[in-house]
Amino acid sequence: MAKEKKKPEPENVDGIEGKMTLGELLKNIFPFVKPYKWLVTATLIFTFVSSLMAQVNAVVLDRAVDAINDLLQQGSFLWSAAAKILIVISVILLSKEVISAVLTFAQRYFGEKMRIMVSRDLSLKVIDKILSFRMAYYSADVNEPGKLQSRIDRGVSSLSSTVNNLFIEILPLFTSAILALILMFMANVYVGLVALCIVPIYFYITYLQAKHLKGWRRGIFGSHQALSQGILNIIESITVIKSFNREDIEANRQANLQQQITDQQMTTRRLSYIYNGVKSFVEQIGTVLIIILTAYLVLIHYPGMSIGKIMYHVLLFNNVSAPIRQLHRIYDDMNDALIYAEGFFGILNDEKEIEDRGHYRPEQVVGNFEISGVDFTYGNGTQALFDVSMNIEPGKITALVGLSGAGKSTVVNLLDKFYEPDCGSIKLDGVDLRDWDTQWLRDNVGLVLQKNHIFSGTIEENIRYGNPDATFEEVEEAAKKAYIYDQIVQLPKGFQSQALQLSGGQQQRIAIARMFIKNPPIIFLDEPTASLDAIATEQIKASIDAIKAGRTVIIISHNIGQIIDADNIFVLQKGHLVQAGTPDEVYRQGGIYKEILDSSARSMNVDKIAQTIEGE
Ligand code: ADP
Repeated sequence: MAKEKKKPEPENVDGIEGKMTLGELLKNIFPFVKPYKWLVTATLIFTFVSSLMAQVNAVVLDRAVDAINDLLQQGSFLWSAAAKILIVISVILLSKEVISAVLTFAQRYFGEKMRIMVSRDLSLKVIDKILSFRMAYYSADVNEPGKLQSRIDRGVSSLSSTVNNLFIEILPLFTSAILALILMFMANVYVGLVALCIVPIYFYITYLQAKHLKGWRRGIFGSHQALSQGILNIIESITVIKSFNREDIEANRQANLQQQITDQQMTTRRLSYIYNGVKSFVEQIGTVLIIILTAYLVLIHYPGMSIGKIMYHVLLFNNVSAPIRQLHRIYDDMNDALIYAEGFFGILNDEKEIEDRGHYRPEQVVGNFEISGVDFTYGNGTQALFDVSMNIEPGKITALVGLSGAGKSTVVNLLDKFYEPDCGSIKLDGVDLRDWDTQWLRDNVGLVLQKNHIFSGTIEENIRYGNPDATFEEVEEAAKKAYIYDQIVQLPKGFQSQALQLSGGQQQRIAIARMFIKNPPIIFLDEPTASLDAIATEQIKASIDAIKAGRTVIIISHNIGQIIDADNIFVLQKGHLVQAGTPDEVYRQGGIYKEILDSSARSMNVDKIAQTIEGE
């Protein structure tokens, strides 16, 4: 259990550098508020009128107390005069309440409307942004899905409530406080000064409180991120966890994190309660001082002082201290917003991660890739390719061969411009990939991966993803070419069945059907038959054979049948290109390819299989 209470450092929070100031926050959020300037203006006007209204109680009670006092001192009590005072008070106070209710409604409604609009705009903007990032962005540790998601969620909700806080909490409260302070000074300078002296003391304590709690709040944010990432990891790995009976280990890991958060929260609360107690005490001292001072001034018959002023000053002081009482909460909210804003605007303002987009869009894409002297390193520091050079001929089938981790998928990632090489160059049809319009390039490239390519949605939607404008007939045609049509129509809902419910082999053929409908001249197949059974592999081989004709195909496979069919093969070992040529040539060279082929044949027991088949 993480019992040790170490103050978390702001730098410990992933993706948060701890640098955003209030000024920067406002500057960043301004463009999102600007489109709603009319809403802002309306809210500000309502705010000002509400603040005026907030002082009415004090003025009315001041006058009422004095009027009642005068009446009592007249000796003979007049019912009519008393009734008049009561009616006037009631009418003024009730009318004020009605007006205040309408104003509060308008203010809250407009403030909330602004929050909702800003929240929508922030979400749309961040989605656009993350869709535009290059793949390398997602391989950095700080951008794991859980962490990114929590930065976005918390950023949107905290920033939109900052906008709301600003217009329906901070502004009204502080306008009201300033007005009340002005009224106090107008009533009596000494009383005004007492109120004014209490304010900085209160501010100072709040400042100390916020400073003291800042590290803890950041720590809680970091732990929340780790917790949500942890839960995501559990769900993703549930099969492994259960099959190894490792529920206890996972539960303990989460319990440790929970314990850490609990400790952090308890410390934050304890500190908050202590500071809040001190602040209440200071506020009460202020009230007592104001009562004593006003009573003294009334007793010495100071000009303009009457008994009603005691009530008046206390109520006005309440109007000054009420907003300041909220100061800490607002300070906390703003502090949260500053923390979350760092992470959130970090995403929005990240220009260097946006995919480069060249302008080269040729009518005809031939499919000749020339890779020369390419080194490549992933965001986490793993160097996956070392000085790799290859010429991938158009219209031919090229197989990339090598053990797991050799760098085969990395080559495909570079060819599809998901990543850029550290050095060296990659050209397609004689033009550097960086100059190619990325979307145009990807429109001309089809990618079939080992997994993770079927979306939640119907089979039809999944096939149509290859070409959103395709007709239903074209979807059916593609399914036929991928040898999956018969199986789809036998399903109770046919093409409207959920694609995720299909088996691995069927999903793979849906991906191939999507490729047929996209009809690109270049195709990358990254272990398309890994983890499939022999029958499914053969059926997929048939659909791949159908799609291969006349296209540039690059295939990564552990399946000898698919490798042997290739026109050319490149053999990679630990990121280095070690062999190249036709399958026969490379086999005769010996080396890793021969080892892979021989051991595949042995593991499949090819001789025995041949004997069995011949014996029939
Ligand atoms: P292969 O396809 O030959 O199995 P890869 O190209 O997938 O090999 O991987 C080559 C090396 O790069 C491996 O060491 C692997 O751990 C690393 N690698 C692959 N993908 C990533 C990634 N997204 N982030 C960091 N390292 C990666």
